[in-house]
Amino acid sequence: MGFIRRDEKEQQIKNYLHVLEILSQSTDDYLSLWDVEKDEHWYFGAVDREYALRDQGRPTVTSAEVEAIVYPADLNLLREDLTAIATGEKKEHNLNYRWVNRNGEAVWINCRGEAIYDENGTPYLMIGRVSDTLLRYLYHPLTRLFNKTKLISDMREEMKSNDDRYLILFDIDDMSDINLKFGRAYGDEILKTLAHLLEEAMPSQTIYHVERNSFAVYPDHITEDELSEIYQTLQKKLETKCTISAGVVLNHGELFKEPGDLYECAEYALKKAKSYGKNTMLFFSEKDMAQKIAAMHLLVEIQDSIRHDCEGFYLCFQPQVKSGSYKLYAAEALLRYQSKKRGRIFPDEFIPILEDFKLIIPVGKWVLRTALEQCKKWRETCPEFRISVNFSTVQLQEKDVGNKVLEILDQAGLPGSALTIEITESVKLQEIQYYNSIFKLWRDAGIEISIDDFGTGYANMSYLKELAVDEIKIDRYFVKDIQKATYNYKLVNNIIDFAKTNELRICCEGVEDVNELAVLEGLSPNLLQGYLFDKPCEPEEFERYYIDTDSSEYRKRADFVKELYQMKEKMHVIHFEPKDILRNTNMGLWIIRVKPDEDYYEMHADETMEQVMAVKQKYTPQECFEFWHSRIKPEYIEYVNRNVKHMMESDKVIQLQYPWMHPELGEVTVRCSGKRVEDSDGMITLEGYHRIITTIEEILPVEE
Ligand code: C2E
Ligand code: CA
Ligand code: CA
Repeated sequence: MGFIRRDEKEQQIKNYLHVLEILSQSTDDYLSLWDVEKDEHWYFGAVDREYALRDQGRPTVTSAEVEAIVYPADLNLLREDLTAIATGEKKEHNLNYRWVNRNGEAVWINCRGEAIYDENGTPYLMIGRVSDTLLRYLYHPLTRLFNKTKLISDMREEMKSNDDRYLILFDIDDMSDINLKFGRAYGDEILKTLAHLLEEAMPSQTIYHVERNSFAVYPDHITEDELSEIYQTLQKKLETKCTISAGVVLNHGELFKEPGDLYECAEYALKKAKSYGKNTMLFFSEKDMAQKIAAMHLLVEIQDSIRHDCEGFYLCFQPQVKSGSYKLYAAEALLRYQSKKRGRIFPDEFIPILEDFKLIIPVGKWVLRTALEQCKKWRETCPEFRISVNFSTVQLQEKDVGNKVLEILDQAGLPGSALTIEITESVKLQEIQYYNSIFKLWRDAGIEISIDDFGTGYANMSYLKELAVDEIKIDRYFVKDIQKATYNYKLVNNIIDFAKTNELRICCEGVEDVNELAVLEGLSPNLLQGYLFDKPCEPEEFERYYIDTDSSEYRKRADFVKELYQMKEKMHVIHFEPKDILRNTNMGLWIIRVKPDEDYYEMHADETMEQVMAVKQKYTPQECFEFWHSRIKPEYIEYVNRNVKHMMESDKVIQLQYPWMHPELGEVTVRCSGKRVEDSDGMITLEGYHRIITTIEEILPVEE
């Protein structure tokens, strides 16, 4: 029995409660008092609004009732700490753990308290406060797991101990595809599932939700084998939903002192895992370290170059030729760097460094100036010659970049029509307005805008309509082996289809052989670029092959073009049924005119359109419309009518696809896209393309 009698304690407690009651008016935290002997927890404030406490009608709750709202994975942690308080082992309670609110969501709380002892030194109560807002900036709103900020600060604490510890990043592969295909809500569910599985696999470790699609763990003890086992289990359990990649780094000895550096290395390993085809776990290796160090050295060297007017940088030029004639149209300027220590370095290595440190802005200006200078020189011989220059998004974000480019153009003494600016497709939807304002400025000056690497974000075709651009460059990834890959063919076909209806120029990149060329040309892009024609060349070489008509190289190239023709000719004879090519790839142009109040319709079909529809006699426009319309499969007539009406009422390009009874081929699928143009002869006028789409396999060259 303690010196203070229980009734005295009761009086004490009453006093405390009174004070807490008053104090609680001025805080959003829940002040608390735990009567250890009676096991009663008092909370002040509307704690029961969010959490299932005090539902029994009593003003206090028991420890069991508190535990009922504690997130199961955190229960042991809390019990241990409170037992240490109750037994007098510990005076202060300061713990971050999770409660579960009435919606079943986990909420991080910070709980602090101090034990009060009786004359015997026995703790009989604890006074404290619970905050469910303090940690809000430290956790991810979706999973309520701690975020990167918290990870970094925890790592900083732990690093003081100098133990060898792993940092592991787990990341869901192709999350944007998943979101696109199944919706973001589904993506969120997968994230929650992974969070849960990680907690299950490492119950005593804190799991951090560091980026939208990735989680981190910094376990205090784990072996490489255990880690691999955990990863494999995760892969198995997620099998039906998605794949995951992981990047791991070991902080060995005192290699890393800054948590940010360690994190960066885990990210590096993760990125590498992704580039190795995803669905894999990679450890940050000594070689990676060497590469990172090399990148640092390169950075130092480049910084020095920039101080000396970009000394060491130079440009190569790769021709872009017109499809069909293979005449030179333009050249793309591609940056190279001559390192004093390492020789020639390609942009894949140094552009990311330039971008990370925003050095791409000064270097980009040097590129633009140098490329324009070269262009001006070559235009003396080829007046129509133009130059394409790459711009990364970092460059586009420079303040007043629009006018700065115009100034450089002006200084070069060239018209805007000499320049095309290539930007990558990664421009985000939210930023369209910003980019369009820059593009407008440039386009008003005659500069053309090209979307580089198109195809990687295929789903974004619709957003292209919103961007004011002139050209699409189809990424070499889709051009590669197009004669074998049906998917690529269809994709490129769709893009070109789309581009034509929207009056965009198409350039296909990475054309490496004649087979690719033959299939591509069936789709009639405007421009071609790739090793088949030429690798990027240094200016002198480019000049000899493309500009200087007297050189032997220039004549060599003319011979090469002839050879190309011959090769293609042969291919057609061997592999292609010309009729099939026609019927599969040709686009028919049509104009439909309507007098809606008179229910009058007419169609004007160009020659290709007549061929595509197998029109054999001369029809009046009214009969032509009737011919087309009467052959739409009956179940689809209403659908087609609806879309034609839609086309009349909106100013957007409308696409439709329907079965059509072809006079010779029977039922075929027709894809058609069109839009309303200016009225003619007082009639609503629609204009567009029409083509038959059948499985492409039929027209591909047979592999020997
Ligand atoms: P990009 O704009 O897509 O440039 C085309 C890349 O494909 C070039 O690589 C070119 O050499 C390569 N290529 C061309 N034809 C073929 C082909 O038939 N087959 C294959 N496999 N590859 C082909 P490069 O020169 O290494 O440039 C890589 C990337 O670096 C460029 O990709 C571009 O994004 C960036 N880059 C290059 N120069 C600059 C620059 O001055 N400024 C900026 N911001 N980025 C640049
Ligand atoms: Ca480019
Ligand atoms: Ca490209």
